[in-house]
Amino acid sequence: MTSPLDRFYQAIRDVPDFPEKGIVYKDITPLLHAPDLFVQATEKMTVGISSADVDKVLVIEARGFLFAGPVAKALDAGIVLARKAGKLPWKRRRVEYSLEYGTDAIEIHEDAVEPGERVLVVDDVLATGGTARAAAQIVEESGGRLAGFCFLIELAFLDGRSRLPDGPVNSLLTYPRVSG
Ligand code: AMP
Repeated sequence: MTSPLDRFYQAIRDVPDFPEKGIVYKDITPLLHAPDLFVQATEKMTVGISSADVDKVLVIEARGFLFAGPVAKALDAGIVLARKAGKLPWKRRRVEYSLEYGTDAIEIHEDAVEPGERVLVVDDVLATGGTARAAAQIVEESGGRLAGFCFLIELAFLDGRSRLPDGPVNSLLTYPRVSG
């Protein structure tokens, strides 16, 4: 039987050994190519999240930016850009986090999150959770409150969810795929 989610799963392309050997890259570009599919996916990603609970969505460079417009519109929220180090033009706040080898960093503008604002973190893929966790930390260090996390894809076998602070975690597509 065809599940409502089948069209989304079919539009995600697995690219083995990219960007390095052993990684199966989840390529979302076929989902973007279809006229209606990406917008439908963004609508489903936020099911269960109330606009009354979210002041801003924080999106992570680069593919996370794609979700900013539709998710912010659905939740009537502002948008915070979290970028790689050195890309933002104004005063910045930075959080460094570890990768398998070495470290990476994300930055937001100092005035992007007002104290007490509730911020939903949004990205395309939850893998090990390091990036989303750093995003949560930068929200908290700005004086904001975490409203939860929203992903298109969760690589559940990497258990990134367990590295995230408490709060709702929405992911539309899960790998390995569970029925539904
Ligand atoms: P992580 O910090 O390990 O949770 O990785 C999340 C970030 O890396 C996201 O911004 C993703 O865009 C990217 N990413 C990690 N693994 C993959 C993958 N297998 N396919 C596509 N993107 C990935």
